Amino acid sequence: MDEFDLIGRYFTRPVSHTALGVGDDAALIDPTPGCQTVVACDMLVEGVHFFADADPRGLGHKALAVNLSDLAAMGATPRQALLGIALPEADAAWLAAFADGFGALAAHYGVDWVGGDTTRGPRNLCVTVLGEVPRGRALLRSGAGAGDELWLSGTPGLAALGLAHLKGECRLAGAACAAALARLHTPAPRVALGIALRGIASACIDVSDGVLADLAHLLRASAAAAGPTAGDPLSAELDGPALMAPLRAHLREAAAPPPEALLRQAVLSGGDDYELLFTAPPAHRETVAALAAATGAPLACVGRVLPSMAGATPHITVVDGATSARVTATGYLHFG
Ligand code: ADP
Ligand code: MG
Repeated sequence: MDEFDLIGRYFTRPVSHTALGVGDDAALIDPTPGCQTVVACDMLVEGVHFFADADPRGLGHKALAVNLSDLAAMGATPRQALLGIALPEADAAWLAAFADGFGALAAHYGVDWVGGDTTRGPRNLCVTVLGEVPRGRALLRSGAGAGDELWLSGTPGLAALGLAHLKGECRLAGAACAAALARLHTPAPRVALGIALRGIASACIDVSDGVLADLAHLLRASAAAAGPTAGDPLSAELDGPALMAPLRAHLREAAAPPPEALLRQAVLSGGDDYELLFTAPPAHRETVAALAAATGAPLACVGRVLPSMAGATPHITVVDGATSARVTATGYLHFG
């Protein structure tokens, strides 16, 4: 099986809204009038982002899902995907399962798989996605203001809990275990929520590196535009119980729940959840709450944005009843 047999057999799918897909030197796309194109690229490297023996179907799903999550964070409607893939060998069973996972998720979101590149080498997956958003309506990291409420979708910490289980740091069982591993291996990008947040959220980011780390990115990007502290990051106050509630509810039936410190670490610093963290003015509270039912994404108000404070690191405090503690943002840093 040479490169072209392989592309023809596994990576060529009919397109539904793209002028020209796989097969020529490049794809052709007719942009929707009045829309801006949103582009994102995310790479998964063996040994860094996944293990050599990872289930290929799950890997195909995840490689696309993490990219669709970036589009969701921008409020974009996903449209096309390209896959750059390096493989040590052409293993038919692996390829079929991988392409199935990638293709099924693309089909689920109406994404045309329009091209890519295929080469021999250490296993590496590089996906590019294109989406569209009506001109000027994209969600950015930079629109938050002091007084805005902080919202988070889903069950933060669930993927990190799955990873902790695999590493033997805790023992999960039954449905709680299955759901944590599913979140880790086959994350569900919050596409419908991102689109619904256009014009409602003041800023948005997807949580790939942990709540604290990604919140810090948002607070830095949303530095006050004017005043004596211009340029300094905004601060935030997180509601500890509200933040922990979804994961606690998830573990309600667990015979032996993981230690408190591990749960807190998972929620605050665990990556890989691909949930949306966004801000909105308190006046939008009812509207935001209603989006949970409309988009199928559970939503919780987990804190609020406070004015800028001097310093390179955003001042983030977690409040638990009467006690509050400043926490520093630590997430996964590739060259940290
Ligand atoms: P070129 O040599 O002109 O760059 P290629 O031989 O790399 O073209 O690719 C031929 C066609 O197959 C192109 O349309 C390309 O987009 C598509 N293609 C290659 N690899 C993939 C892949 N992994 N997924 C989808 N399409 C692919
Ligand atoms: Mg060419």
